[in-house]
Amino acid sequence: MIDPFGREVSYLRVSVTDRCDFRCVYCMSENMTFLPKADVLSLEELDRLCSAFVRKGVKKLRITGGEPLVRRNIMSLFRNLSRLLKSGDLKELTLTTNGSQLPKYASELVDCGVKRINVSMDSLDADKFHELTRWGDLGKVQKGIRAARDAGLAIKINVVALRNFNDDEIEPLIRWCGDMGYDMTLIETMPLGDIGDRVEQYLPLSEVRERLEETFTFTDLDYKSGGPARYVEVKETGRKLGFITPLTHNFCEGCNRVRLTCTGTLYMCLGQDDAADLRKPLRASEADQVLDAAIDEAISRKPKGHDFVIDRDHSGPALARHMNVTGG
Ligand code: SAM
Ligand code: SF4
Repeated sequence: MIDPFGREVSYLRVSVTDRCDFRCVYCMSENMTFLPKADVLSLEELDRLCSAFVRKGVKKLRITGGEPLVRRNIMSLFRNLSRLLKSGDLKELTLTTNGSQLPKYASELVDCGVKRINVSMDSLDADKFHELTRWGDLGKVQKGIRAARDAGLAIKINVVALRNFNDDEIEPLIRWCGDMGYDMTLIETMPLGDIGDRVEQYLPLSEVRERLEETFTFTDLDYKSGGPARYVEVKETGRKLGFITPLTHNFCEGCNRVRLTCTGTLYMCLGQDDAADLRKPLRASEADQVLDAAIDEAISRKPKGHDFVIDRDHSGPALARHMNVTGG
């Protein structure tokens, strides 16, 4: 699949549910209205959609959400998708999770061919973590991370940088990841969904990096994980540190991915509203021709990029939908 700007689309992120057992302040409002269950695709339908994308050239699949591991029977989707790894059509099957359900599922994920996962954890302080996630329990998440490590999964910790909240914890988090043997990625908060004033929480990573370089020695790496992060190696810990900077450094020129929601809506760009409905063509016919044509048409509309801005003149959401719809 090649888009109008010559970029090859080889990475599909799938939000399997918009629901979550946390309510992170930058992601959701406290009283979210979730999709009616009737609108959500079955796991068999999601499998059929993912398989269509793999047939058309997707090599990497990331399961996300909402919290993917709270969807009932989610392991049956991983089990089915693992056949695409076995056949060699898919190179990587992976997951972004808040970690709360990992004690239950870590070994099964490994059985399904998952080799590395991203776990979101923005603070090492239990009270702050609870404040940030509203409903989360840091102890449980850390138990989940340990279970994942013990099961043999490589772990990357995602940290959203938030001004006056965890800016003083970034250095301890880098050291903690170093001690535990995890890579880490810092993420700028993106203006998706109405959650109140984002200007207060927005912390440009250019500023964070400058400050970190007073303490740590960074070497730029060519390494690409398939996502938008740019990586450095931290000499003092020997681990990788990624920077996802949609605001301070737009990374759209190398974009290789599209995002599918649990209702079968395909977003060709995280930062634009244009989308394609794949549920209708999926259900229109048992054969895949109609679906394949709809996917081709969607890819032909992939836009050049996003244009997020957060400042006093742009303090509201750039897009109405929250991050849990498209999964980040
Ligand atoms: N629930 C899972 C988790 O938290 O890892 C997967 C879905 S979550 C939407 C995916 C990632 O997006 C998480 O690392 C989260 O911190 C990040 N995220 C959520 N809202 C964001 C926002 N407005 N700006 C930047 N990152 C955001
Ligand atoms: Fe849930 Fe992940 Fe959003 Fe937090 S960031 S509310 S864990 S979907």
